[in-house]
Amino acid sequence: MQGEFVVHVGEHYFDAPFWQGCREHRLLLPTCRACGKAHLPPRPVRPFCFAEEIAWQEASGHGHVSTWTKVHKAWFPGLRRGDALRPSA
Ligand SMILES: [Zn+2]
Repeated sequence: MQGEFVVHVGEHYFDAPFWQGCREHRLLLPTCRACGKAHLPPRPVRPFCFAEEIAWQEASGHGHVSTWTKVHKAWFPGLRRGDALRPSA
């Protein structure tokens, strides 16, 4: 498998819909039913109001980049510059 590196992520009850969306090429955001705010990465506790109920909403595809990083080290064995990351099927 050249040019592609598969990351085997562990799915949990709080992020399984996120990874399923990735496999379908859809960005699903966990959105708090109490305050309406979306957050990433998925987590078991809402970061804004600690409410328990969420709804999964597909991102519109519009937004802005607020920050980014450039990684100069290959963190996984076999990962080379330019390799794509994707969750395992
Ligand atoms: Zn909330």
